[in-house]
Amino acid sequence: MSAVPIFRRVALIGFGLIGGSIARAVRAQGLASEIVTTARSEKTRARVTELGIVDRVLETNAEAVNDADLVILCIPVGACGPVAQEIAPFLKAGAIVSDVGSVKGAIVREMAPHLPGHVHFVPAHPVAGTEHSGPDSGFAELFINRWCILTPPEGTDPMPVETLRAFWAGMGAKVEIMTPDHHDLVLAITSHLPHLIAYTIVGTADELAQVTSSEVIKFSAGGFRDFTRIAASDPTMWRDVFLNNKEAVLEMLGTFNEDLSKLTRAIRRNDGEALFEHFTRTRAIRRGIVEIGQDSAAPDFGRPHPPLEKKAE
Ligand code: NAP
Repeated sequence: MSAVPIFRRVALIGFGLIGGSIARAVRAQGLASEIVTTARSEKTRARVTELGIVDRVLETNAEAVNDADLVILCIPVGACGPVAQEIAPFLKAGAIVSDVGSVKGAIVREMAPHLPGHVHFVPAHPVAGTEHSGPDSGFAELFINRWCILTPPEGTDPMPVETLRAFWAGMGAKVEIMTPDHHDLVLAITSHLPHLIAYTIVGTADELAQVTSSEVIKFSAGGFRDFTRIAASDPTMWRDVFLNNKEAVLEMLGTFNEDLSKLTRAIRRNDGEALFEHFTRTRAIRRGIVEIGQDSAAPDFGRPHPPLEKKAE
């Protein structure tokens, strides 16, 4: 628990995986004196009340932001513009307004025009998540040792940026600052394209209907299983990511298609050397990710493997 709360009142608009994880981490670390929240549906609001993680669950976005020092939109990217417009008249002077959207250029374009000059707008993207969603899916440790990228628009006051940096660091995240466009380009290749590939491959396998009902599921440990985890991610969130990071994703997809053609050609021409060289390079990249602590070095991502039991004689 931190000695002094960074904010008096934090308002979370939306309480799913990310909003719920922030609430749990803020409470665990004592980063705010009060956490208030709201969600779109009565069902989610009722569930959040039951969970008892926040101080107050409010009916409307306007009520939730009232007198808040930090407001974080934890909702799909496509909903951020309209919600910014809705809350704008109710924001306190000097408040920091942020979000957690996986795309940043569109967030700045959609939210900034609605926000009054007396608040500080500091968009953020915690690069951490799981394939689960909803109020029960969050956990306080989600952001530990994960990056949180802040993308303050040009001319933003540095003080609120530093305050938000301290807030995310308090939840265990490593914080980096970059421009919204650079963020979108980097994330297009590291996150958005891998999701698109997973959605494609799992969809393609499903179309081979007679195979899916038997062999695909049966032999899924052979790599396919890891794609199915990614392809189980929230459809609303990922629809909004692709619609709002169109240019960067299309650019990366162009490069990806060229590289796929090269590998296709190597297979067709029996060019084992080209394949071996490529796979050696990618194996080194995986080692690098493990070395900087962004994933487990345990075989099979640390999945438990039951011991081989000796058969009775
Ligand atoms: P989630 O678990 O599905 O929760 C979404 C929340 O947003 C729910 O409280 C939902 O309310 C509310 N909501 C949905 N549509 C809305 C709308 N049109 N207007 C207002 N509220 C709406 O989603 P999440 O995974 O936390 O993702 C939230 C944000 O975090 C997204 O912008 C996403 O890009 C970003 N993000 C996600 C991940 C990840 O791995 N999931 C990682 C980093 C960043 P109801 O429950 O009442 O419907």
